Amino acid sequence: MTDRYAVIGNPVAHSKSPWIHGEFARATKQDIEYLRIEAPLDGFERTVEDFRKARGRGANVTLPFKEAAYRYSSELSAGARLAGAVNTLAFDSSEIRGENTDGSGLVRDLTVNLGFSIRGASILLLGAGGAARGILGPLADSGAAQILVANRTMARARELVQRIALPAVRACGYDELEGKAFDLVINATSTGLSDEPLEILPDVFRKEALAYELVYGRETQFLAVARKQGARTSDGIGMLVEQAADSFRLWRGVRPETAAVITALRKG
Ligand code: NAP
Repeated sequence: MTDRYAVIGNPVAHSKSPWIHGEFARATKQDIEYLRIEAPLDGFERTVEDFRKARGRGANVTLPFKEAAYRYSSELSAGARLAGAVNTLAFDSSEIRGENTDGSGLVRDLTVNLGFSIRGASILLLGAGGAARGILGPLADSGAAQILVANRTMARARELVQRIALPAVRACGYDELEGKAFDLVINATSTGLSDEPLEILPDVFRKEALAYELVYGRETQFLAVARKQGARTSDGIGMLVEQAADSFRLWRGVRPETAAVITALRKG
């Protein structure tokens, strides 16, 4: 019988995951079905239980349920534990495995697709929400010389940095960025989606820096400022596809090729 997978979120109508996983399944000749499930805001666990009973073998979890998925997992990977959030669930008869592939997806997009060397780089991470939590550990593990986490609410940045507890990773407020410049600046705030202004100093981009926006398919204020400063820019479409490929590997034991899928999504 065909194994079933799904993306579970609220809202979820915009999700590109069903298309991406459909392409992966076709390319790797895997017989799977991939659904889109909108869970009620107070009904994540119930929704997942129902899906498991209906032959569900795994799920991608998106906003606002990544913390709920973390609590729901009976077994957590080291990355998920560090992030305190889960974006991939894998079910077998007794266990619910929780993984977080956001960070591995970003690292792969940076290093393989964009040719950026994280080792020895100085990095500014803007934001300390769910996405920042998922990516900070894998970035630090990739040998960055320095990672500064700046957040509007300074206490959240501090709490995140304390979780990682590495000398190369520090927290700061936006007002402490003056006079500092970085090789890589990542926008992990939600301003790319909300269109709220982001108080970012143009000078944070070093010459030939890479500016990476987690939101995809939009010309955000962050990207516009970075481009004006002469920085190389990327949106988060590569991360989206790479994190999906890592989920697919976890479920099916084979990692699909991603280049053609990224190209197709970029073309729209
Ligand atoms: P979240 O948990 O709601 O966190 C939002 C973050 O943005 C917080 O750090 C918040 O700061 C900050 N923020 C919000 N408005 C701001 C403003 N006006 N100025 C400065 N900072 C502001 O959201 P999330 O789950 O981390 O998601 C962040 C973004 O990443 C979303 O747009 C999401 O779509 C994207 N994402 C992309 C991928 C991908 O595969 N490409 C994967 C995951 C997420 P405070 O703490 O001060 O409120």
